[in-house]
Amino acid sequence: MPDRVFKLYDTMSRQVKELRTVEPGHLKFYTCGPTVYSYAHIGNFRSFLPADLVVRTAKALGWRVTWVTNITDVGHLTEDDVADAGGEDRMEKALRSKEGEHFSNIWDLAEYYTNAYLKDWSDLNMTEPHVRPRATQHVREQITMTEALIDKGNAYETPTGVYFDVNSDNEYGKLSGNTRDKLKEAVREVVLDDNKRQQADFALWKKDDKHLMQWFSPWGWGFPGWHIECSAMARAYLGDTIDLHSGGEDNMFPHHECEIAQSETFTGKPFSNHWMHVRFLQVEGEKMAKRTGNFYTVRDLIEQGYDPLAVRYALISVPYGKPFNFTLQGLKDAQGNVERFRECWRRVEDPTGASGDSSAFKRDLERLYSESLDAMCEDLNTSVAIAKALEGAKTILREQGLDSARASIAREFLTKVDGLLGISPQPRSKDTGEPTASPVIDGKPIEVWIEERASAKRAKDFAQSDAIRDKVSEAGYELRDSPEGTTWTKKLG
Ligand code: AMP
Ligand code: ZN
Repeated sequence: MPDRVFKLYDTMSRQVKELRTVEPGHLKFYTCGPTVYSYAHIGNFRSFLPADLVVRTAKALGWRVTWVTNITDVGHLTEDDVADAGGEDRMEKALRSKEGEHFSNIWDLAEYYTNAYLKDWSDLNMTEPHVRPRATQHVREQITMTEALIDKGNAYETPTGVYFDVNSDNEYGKLSGNTRDKLKEAVREVVLDDNKRQQADFALWKKDDKHLMQWFSPWGWGFPGWHIECSAMARAYLGDTIDLHSGGEDNMFPHHECEIAQSETFTGKPFSNHWMHVRFLQVEGEKMAKRTGNFYTVRDLIEQGYDPLAVRYALISVPYGKPFNFTLQGLKDAQGNVERFRECWRRVEDPTGASGDSSAFKRDLERLYSESLDAMCEDLNTSVAIAKALEGAKTILREQGLDSARASIAREFLTKVDGLLGISPQPRSKDTGEPTASPVIDGKPIEVWIEERASAKRAKDFAQSDAIRDKVSEAGYELRDSPEGTTWTKKLG
């Protein structure tokens, strides 16, 4: 294998550059995780998936990877992006909302949405991180860091909390370009605390003895600021300097800018040597929003009968730095391609063809995998990487039956492609490719439709039974009648 250089765009230096590791061959990587006040949406996963792809690419290059991605379960406020530290805790707000009525307390709510997120994560065939710390489990480290920042003169206490003094850090603004002289116009025009030295100073600790999640600190009862959580968790698991840090483009400022300020003034060392930010996803050409009806969670799409692997495929099909418009048509196309990989596996598992010279077949598949990996090393060029993988699948499907030698070459290709892109996992035994959960069509599980169709037939209402078959077909499923009853399968491609 030729020596490859893994290149990624670095937001800090504003260029595509080699991803280097401090320890040779060992990537230390931190990704900002979700705030667990609701189900994560496909936009959130659009930003987590490239992190998973970095891990897969690094592993394909033979690197060791220590990947930490956190869970934010306290301290992320509704107005954190515009006015530090304004608004209310997103978790508390969720508990008071209609959905919040299902939970007996805020810890329950956090637990529920954390588990939902983990389920979506595994449905999308994402790599398990080395550790997934929760902010609430690391308050001790957050307090220690805050105390040290006060001692060093970088932070100060007011009647409402502890704030980081952005004037104490000459480099503040180096990531986002929101340097101190520009801060006034850029953000945070809302005055929240007259005791702050400047309104751009951000909270490390909020005093609040009414907050539902509160801890005792040298400054009384309260809770940590959102930014200090990630600084403390990254350091707890990865040390003072990490190789790569990622998040969505909205995290660049204020979140990551503030993490850098805290961590670097605290340790006196660089915090992260490389920064990766994912462009925001749009849905059907618009910003995804609940009110415009184009808001999707992973589970919404699975319930509508889409294959989770197709959701993954669609979400990674456009490189992470490019504008990406998610459409249901794109998802349907992805579904067809995922089916191609499944069909390859079916043929591999059941070799039938006559044996012959397989050297050209082997050479083609090796070349296509190698080109796919090359594309991933070029700033995660997923559109080329996937196209190469798909060309490999077509190469396999073009064969008139696979003899056992070709089947094992194809198996190796599919396994390597899956390691790299996660779109062609080997089906588990007896897995025919159908989703295990029943699809829900217009709010009813498919079994209910089957039952209603059977009773329409018994009543000789064939117009109705045909209408049900058509409805199910439109949703992407086929009904098959047999003397034992009716079964359903997903329609191919
Ligand atoms: P949050 O749960 O708000 O803390 O967000 C979790 C992650 O999802 C962050 O890295 C955000 O940048 C990212 N994110 C939120 N919305 C989108 C979107 N529409 N497209 C891409 N990433 C997003
Ligand atoms: Zn973070």
